[in-house]
Amino acid sequence: MIAGQGQPETELRIIGMTCGGCVGRVERALRDVRGVRGVSVNLMTESAVVSFDENRAPLAALTSAVRETGYDAEPMPVGGAQGPQSEDDPRLRETLRRHRQAMVQAVGLSLPIVGLELLRGVLWGPGPAAQIPCRVLQIVLLIMLALSPGGGPILAGGLRALWYRAANMDLLITMGVVTAFAASVYGTLAKQPEFVHLHAAAMILALVCVGRYLEARAKGRASAAMAALARRAPRSALVMRNGELQSVAVDSIVPGDQVCVPAHAAIPVDGEVTEGTADVDESLMTGEPMPVLRTVGDRASAGTLVTEGKLMIRATSVGSRSSLGRIVEMVRKAQTGHTHMQRIADRIASVFVPIVVAIAAATFVGWLAIGGWAAAAQATRAAVAVLVVACPCALGLATPTAVLVASGLAALRGILVRDAPMLEAAGLVDVIVWDKTGTLTAGRPSVRDVIAVESRLPAEVTRVAAAAEQFSVHPLAKAIVALARRDGIAFGEPTSFGSVPGGGVTAQLDQKQIVVGSPRFLESSGVAMDGVAGILDGSRVEGDTAVVVAVDGRAIGVIFLTDAVRPSSAEAVRRMRSLGVRSEILTGDELSTANSVASAVEIDCVSAGVDPAGKVDRIKALQRSGERVAMVGDGVNDAAALATADVGIAFATGADVASEAAGINLVGSTPQLVADAVALARASVRTIRQNLAWAFLYNGAMIPLAAVGKLPPAWAAGAMMISSLTVVLNSLLLPRRIGWTDGRAGHDRSPPTPTGDPA
Ligand code: ADP
Ligand code: MG
Repeated sequence: MIAGQGQPETELRIIGMTCGGCVGRVERALRDVRGVRGVSVNLMTESAVVSFDENRAPLAALTSAVRETGYDAEPMPVGGAQGPQSEDDPRLRETLRRHRQAMVQAVGLSLPIVGLELLRGVLWGPGPAAQIPCRVLQIVLLIMLALSPGGGPILAGGLRALWYRAANMDLLITMGVVTAFAASVYGTLAKQPEFVHLHAAAMILALVCVGRYLEARAKGRASAAMAALARRAPRSALVMRNGELQSVAVDSIVPGDQVCVPAHAAIPVDGEVTEGTADVDESLMTGEPMPVLRTVGDRASAGTLVTEGKLMIRATSVGSRSSLGRIVEMVRKAQTGHTHMQRIADRIASVFVPIVVAIAAATFVGWLAIGGWAAAAQATRAAVAVLVVACPCALGLATPTAVLVASGLAALRGILVRDAPMLEAAGLVDVIVWDKTGTLTAGRPSVRDVIAVESRLPAEVTRVAAAAEQFSVHPLAKAIVALARRDGIAFGEPTSFGSVPGGGVTAQLDQKQIVVGSPRFLESSGVAMDGVAGILDGSRVEGDTAVVVAVDGRAIGVIFLTDAVRPSSAEAVRRMRSLGVRSEILTGDELSTANSVASAVEIDCVSAGVDPAGKVDRIKALQRSGERVAMVGDGVNDAAALATADVGIAFATGADVASEAAGINLVGSTPQLVADAVALARASVRTIRQNLAWAFLYNGAMIPLAAVGKLPPAWAAGAMMISSLTVVLNSLLLPRRIGWTDGRAGHDRSPPTPTGDPA
């Protein structure tokens, strides 16, 4: 039910993928290995995540399966794709350098070929016979280009694809270049210049290299947002070793080490403060922008920043187990998985290449059929153009680029999306179901009043309730215990304790049976409520939650609690409405309480008095009626409902930052983040759709143009490159599309200042 939990996983680096067709082939090959349960291949990160059932498939079986399809695979090096990549990541810099070098050489070799093409008449005079030295020079340069770091890998990839009968983008280019080359050699020897396309072959290779370099750069830019997260992880830290502070690599810190964190430094580990006092910016974990004071005994989280002062911290969790490690891991995972849209695109891409080859062949035959042998030169030209313009690389980039940009952008704002399908699902929701307590309300209720039945005192009601509630983690329980402590009411320890989620608690205290909880829960436990019926009706203020306290089957009093509605709840609900998403409240609390919150946030559909199982039923009912449901909860007692909904959104803080039940975890408890997440997901889905539509329409429109000979091969190469770049640039525009260009959420911005005195 909860995806990925407990299943062994391994990650591979896949080498040689160039397009959506490749992704499909690698995925199928891995899926066919015995023992493999799930596979997710990512073109952008050039990686595959493979999950197994209990019988873990041997690594060698996986890598050889990939090799048999014409790609290469190796185990992902430790720390390989772990951290997000950024422009200052050494691996990315190395990749960029290689791409740049290949591009410079390819362009450097193709320019003289094109130059000779333009000047051959001037330098060698007219006539194919006189120009043979020029042609030979061009052929030599083209062969050098084909063997250079630019052309070599493309042609090698194409030949490998042919050998393994794979169909990918390299194959199309290789067929195009080889056909053009063969025709050119024939044209030179037969002195038929119309067959010669040496400059076109050169430009195709050079432009593909330019395109790949620009693509690699754009990939780096797309993940720049995630790099900001990685920057929160310092590389070295001051650790107490042999009685003195030493600067060591963060990887070498183990739990139990004493770590010194000076002002303006990021805390490298999770741990407990053992010395010092400091202001700590914990916004990454709590969403709270103001620094908080941390001192001896307090917890410290990796990735938070010491702004003022200095701390000694005893490490408890380090590396990937720390809170920052879990966030980074979660962000990385956000790019895995295929959206439904991408699956369709990949399937099309993998049948696309053979179809294109068939169209190219048909083009060639068609020209010959109509024009006879006289049209042979035209036929080759058109066939080459078809092969080159039809490369489905834009199709392969359409989704991953948008997902990468969106997940990085989201992470910086404290929105942690589990995977790409979850982002897609969030973009498609029709209705959003809000839990009340701790979601729409602050979740920090306080006791407003304690009223006892006539024969008892309020202090006794508080004492009994606090004794029973002290082991409960429910916010209401905490408020009741806090009241007892504040009023100095001593309460004993129960001899037994039980809690019923969505109902209340039971306990055994001084040989008496205590029940504390909602009126409904007490009634269903057989408690006589007649004593408190008048109190419940008479003393309740609108919005109050009533908790009834019973001893040995008789209600002895009622505790009224209030929980303030979060100031931003109404605005979040309004924003959802403007996105066309309906809101509902689903709560275990009573109807009257729920209604008062509902009217404050303008929601008109309320289900109250629902236990956790009932919440699941309600969500299923909505789903049966054809609606796509997002559930927002605090992740504790709503886990089942969160996992049932199409999209589970949980407010997560500190320790449980990556809760498994929810598909989206929000760091920082403002409902505005829910609206942000949905708005971003919507924009992402729209961007992906635009990208896919563009890729399809573009290829669709260009192929006929090439087939009828209206698109020379060199132009076809340029058109193909422009198509992939358009897709990448469209994805990079995502932040602008939703107005998130300043690194802050839309709602954070201060309201426009009222126009002041003109004087
Ligand atoms: P929500 O759905 O609003 O988050 P819960 O499902 O947590 O609410 O709880 C529903 C109701 O059950 C609460 O309003 C309260 O009346 C009662 N309840 C649950 N747990 C406790 C507890 N530990 N002590 C007292 N009342 C409780
Ligand atoms: Mg709740």
